[in-house]
Amino acid sequence: MLGPPGAGKGTQAARMALHYGVPPISTGAMFRDMAAQETDLGRALQGYLDRGEYVPDDIVIRAVEARTAEPDCKDGFLLDGFPRTISQAQTLEALLAGRKQQLTGVLVFKAPIEVLVQRFSGRRVCPVDGSTYHIETQPPLRPDVCDLCGTPLVSRPDDAPDVVQHRLEVYIEKTAPLRDYYRARGLLHKINAAPDPDTVFAQVIAVLDGLK
Ligand code: AMP
Repeated sequence: MLGPPGAGKGTQAARMALHYGVPPISTGAMFRDMAAQETDLGRALQGYLDRGEYVPDDIVIRAVEARTAEPDCKDGFLLDGFPRTISQAQTLEALLAGRKQQLTGVLVFKAPIEVLVQRFSGRRVCPVDGSTYHIETQPPLRPDVCDLCGTPLVSRPDDAPDVVQHRLEVYIEKTAPLRDYYRARGLLHKINAAPDPDTVFAQVIAVLDGLK
């Protein structure tokens, strides 16, 4: 899954994982968990996240390699937020080839900037289980607490306006070129990510069912 911050990749990934029974792998969520640990790596990761910068490719690749080697990924997996650079895409290609697996397709989520801004300014997350809400479009059952575990919800620190601005710039510079990379390989499928989650999900299913 490719797309700028705020495009709704996490929301759609959760639905796709349930619908198709494949594990969703979000590198962003993996790094947030690792950053919470009091280790040198954790502290270094927290720095990248807080600044809205990409984590270096070697760390990203090691994390993805280890996660996708776990038994639940044997019959396939869903990558949310990886690859994000051409070098990561090339490594993924080699990794999959070595395991006799192949990429089914690449979904690129597109939405106008106003929609992206509206999404991350209202986004709230549970610091314990990582579940995501939106104060207007996807509110929790009780205001400001997680439906699943009752923990008070927080804003993601990297959703602060100045960090978001930087994340969008980094996306345009480093990740947007992947669209051409995957278009040239006949793998790219555009999803209009502007409408509500049900409408977006209907498009996702239509594309993926066509690829199976
Ligand atoms: P996300 O939850 O996908 O928005 O990712 C949050 C943050 O994690 C990003 O802003 C990056 O700092 C980092 N990150 C996640 N995936 C990658 C990746 N594939 N390459 C580099 N950094 C990543």
